[in-house]
Amino acid sequence: MSESTQKITAPAPSDLAYVPFVSVENMLRLVHHVGIEAMLAELVDYIEEDFRNWESFDKSPRVASHSRDGVIELMPTSNGAVYGFKYVNGHPSNMREGLQTVTAFGVLARVDTGYPVLMSEMTVLTALRTAASSAMVARHLAPRGARVMAMIGNGAQAEFQALAMRVVCGIDRLQLYDIDPIATEKMMRNLAESGLELVACTSPEQAIEGAQIITTCTADKRNATILTDNIVGAGVHINAIGGDCPGKTELHRDILGRADVFVEYTPQTRIEGEIQQMPADFAVTEMWQVLNGKHAGRVSDSQITLFDGVGFAIEDFSALRYVNDRVRKAGLYQNLDIIADPDDPRDLFGMIRRAG
Ligand code: NAD
Repeated sequence: MSESTQKITAPAPSDLAYVPFVSVENMLRLVHHVGIEAMLAELVDYIEEDFRNWESFDKSPRVASHSRDGVIELMPTSNGAVYGFKYVNGHPSNMREGLQTVTAFGVLARVDTGYPVLMSEMTVLTALRTAASSAMVARHLAPRGARVMAMIGNGAQAEFQALAMRVVCGIDRLQLYDIDPIATEKMMRNLAESGLELVACTSPEQAIEGAQIITTCTADKRNATILTDNIVGAGVHINAIGGDCPGKTELHRDILGRADVFVEYTPQTRIEGEIQQMPADFAVTEMWQVLNGKHAGRVSDSQITLFDGVGFAIEDFSALRYVNDRVRKAGLYQNLDIIADPDDPRDLFGMIRRAG
């Protein structure tokens, strides 16, 4: 079990007033320090470990504030010893302004004192954890020996998805499609030296031809139909992660009717996932049940398995836990002075007086 599953690395009492902060710069250093594929593989293990301990976590659908252009969300959870939350937005129209669709930061805290012990950028970390979650699921559901993945939507998340599927599932050929060819060119450029065989496609049909894993990761705030039922063959694993908000889906509902659907946390996915298109009693399986042997995963070569991934708080908790373990050892953080800590805990006012 990793260090911080039940407790987080405890800071010395004299350090409690300072909260280690992982900036974007230090997150990028951490990725280079560990190596991106090694980091993705390690994140998969942290996420899987927390999913196996699913029943010990507080769980609730994330708190979402929707607007015409997007959504701002808070994603809290706790395992009784450690508490974590992420702030994240999703604004598909941001790209037109030269801004990210998704940005995030997060906090870990001790439950016994309530003191925060880590604050971190999570825009880069979300891309890593989303890819690690997809790969963790595919490791259990994708057809054995899968070599080819279709990647539909070649935006900010896409390269991470590709590398995680390579390191965890052994994917060695990627068939790419995006309505914007510039996105596909960017992805081809970024992965040119990865050793992956890269094929740019001009339609979703071409991209999914011969693929055993189909990842959809597009951003559009509507009920889109990235995949129609007639183009999806038997036996594939669909990793549908772009639809993650009410009114924002990617798959034709008939695909859901043909597939076995796997989710993170059902109450949240019914609101945000592909299954929002289906009746409220539509049968799904939560991934932790597959990991703990309570429910079957893939049972036949012809079965379509579908991960309706929306992103759940426990994945962020795992990612923050991983970063907390890693950055403390590597010293890749700055101390933030965000906890007022008077010598006499009751004399907060005196602290102001003395500062004057
Ligand atoms: P992005 O804006 O950087 O990229 C999205 C890409 O989708 C763009 O290149 C766009 O051209 C393409 N696209 C839009 N409509 C398309 C269509 N019909 N066919 C093919 N391509 C199309 O966004 P991103 O950061 O890569 O995120 C992608 C999606 O994933 C977003 O909707 C985001 O909310 C979601 N997301 C989900 C999770 C999760 O945990 N499930 C995590 C992060 C992001």
